[in-house]
Parts: sequence; C-alpha cells; structure tokens
Amino acid sequence: MDDRDLYSGFIRLHILHHADKRSIFGLGVMEELAQHGYRLSAGTLYPILHALEAKGYLRATEHRKGNHTRKMYRTTPEGRRALAAAKAQVKEMFGELFQSRAARGHASRMSVAQNGGLTQWHN
Ligand SMILES: [Zn+2]
Repeated sequence: MDDRDLYSGFIRLHILHHADKRSIFGLGVMEELAQHGYRLSAGTLYPILHALEAKGYLRATEHRKGNHTRKMYRTTPEGRRALAAAKAQVKEMFGELFQSRAARGHASRMSVAQNGGLTQWHN
C-alpha cells in the first residue's frame, strides 16, 4: 500500500483549515502542502478541491488576474462545521498517538481498577 493513502484526510483538512482563514487557490495550496512534505500534482489536487466544493465545504469564486481568471476557494458554513468536527477527532487521535507512557500506564491502571480492583497492574 502507498503511504499516501494514509494522508489523504490530512490533505483535505489542511485545505479546509487554510480556506477557513483566507481565500486559497490551487497553486498556492500545492506550495503550502509541499512545505509540509506533501507533494501533490495538479492532477491530484484539483479533483480534491472540486470534491470539497461539490460536498458544499468550499465555495469557489473566479477572480480576474491580468488576462486569466483564477478560482479562489473559501470555506462555507458547512465546511467550517465539518472542520471543527474533524479537529475534535484529530485532537482525540493525537492524544492516543502521542500520549506519554506514564499516561498509558495510568489508563491501564484505571481500567484494571474498574474491572474488579485487581491488585496486579499491567502496563
Ligand atoms: Zn497547512
């Protein structure tokens, strides 16, 4: 399996996060994501932007720049709601992925205590 499969949600979250702060456009997103180590081609990114737009998370507007137009994206209220919900999930997962050994030990002691007060703790 390609590792990138694991990151596709992160990429969508990055996009929503940045589009919630200011209007974004495809090339700018590609450069920003590259700084995070995600190398996306336009052929990968644009379908993601279009899917987020189709889902109602982003709204696109066309801006004239010289003699070409650029599509700018911003979160919709629905996109903002989805972002907030996803952030809560990420926070929860972050806690599990990075909790300290001490905290894990504490959690397993708690569950042992709840499961009948065994005196032996397993860590
Ligand atoms: Zn970012």
